[in-house]
Amino acid sequence: MTTLEFAPERVEPMPAEQREELLRMPGFGSLYSDHMVTARWTAGRGWHDARTGPLAAFTLHPATMALHYGQTVFEGLKAFWRPDGQRALFRPRDHAARFARSARRMAMPELAEADFVAGVEALLRVDGAWVPRPRGQSFYLRPFLIAAETHLSNRPAEEYLFAVIGSPARPATAEPAPIRLWASPEYVRAADGGTGTIKCGGNYGGSYIAQREAAAHGCDQVVWLDARERRYVEEVGGSNLFFVEGDRLVTPPLSGTLLAGITRDSILRLAGRLGLTVAEEPVTLDDWERGCRADRITETFACGTARAVAPVGHAVTPDGEWAVGDGTTGPVTRRLLNALLDVQYGEAPDEFGWLHAVTTGS
Ligand SMILES: *Cc1c(COP(=O)(O)O)cnc(C)c1O
Repeated sequence: MTTLEFAPERVEPMPAEQREELLRMPGFGSLYSDHMVTARWTAGRGWHDARTGPLAAFTLHPATMALHYGQTVFEGLKAFWRPDGQRALFRPRDHAARFARSARRMAMPELAEADFVAGVEALLRVDGAWVPRPRGQSFYLRPFLIAAETHLSNRPAEEYLFAVIGSPARPATAEPAPIRLWASPEYVRAADGGTGTIKCGGNYGGSYIAQREAAAHGCDQVVWLDARERRYVEEVGGSNLFFVEGDRLVTPPLSGTLLAGITRDSILRLAGRLGLTVAEEPVTLDDWERGCRADRITETFACGTARAVAPVGHAVTPDGEWAVGDGTTGPVTRRLLNALLDVQYGEAPDEFGWLHAVTTGS
């Protein structure tokens, strides 16, 4: 397959002073860079009309299939500012592979790995000035694919729109506050044979009611249990979960209902460097509670691209609650977070080849 060329159109960038002012304001997901990348796919023709143009609203017919049947998939990856002034994408090929897997599961056309990488590179090349420099801050790229055909038939679309937008992101605080998790007795995120292993829009829309329930119980996020027995701990909101047991790091296995997080994989590999042994094994809610009460499980954290590593301070169920350790961020969690950030910000050797440097226009 030939590589798409996301030919850049000239766009008047936001004046530097105004951009720098915006980059000083905290937040996630509410600021966007000057450009967007788009490409289209049509049955019988394949991919076409790849371009890098100004960020602008789409015009969609009310019968656009994505609006009715939820044939949409997405990715989330980050770019970082390195000490040498270059900007680098974190593991873009792994995100490309997962994007293709998501598309396949949703009966959507796959974008070749090289084309996905070319698309995210194209955006970063023109909007490199939107990458914040301070450690902890980054540029979040959101590639997505939607069914763009105008039709009311309930079947896979014959036209699709791929796009990449970018958003400067910074954590709300330098020191992540431990989160409280709510174990929903009622709602499940994913079941065997479903779409839990991919990033499709409906997985998230379907989870918000549980998130509301969590908030009503004074919690920040939901900890998802398996659909079959409601016993096994699987994930947290849109993040994977790890438990620290002495010098062992335990995470639930990719059972077919979990999303294979790229941060999860990065943590598993970095753990060895920090002298931790890793295990992918099932953990029940009960194991977790008893482990914490017996001081065997001393730390728990969630991890994902958006938040990197988020310590878990408490777990809440309809039957009561417990603290993890003393409810604050533990030393292993902090060391793993720093080990990840050190690689991402170019302060430690990139021994796994995770960073993909991109030469930017500014
Ligand atoms: C995206 C996501 C994750 C984390 O994946 P990363 O590749 O680390 O960002 C975990 N769980 C769910 C449900 C997700 O959507």
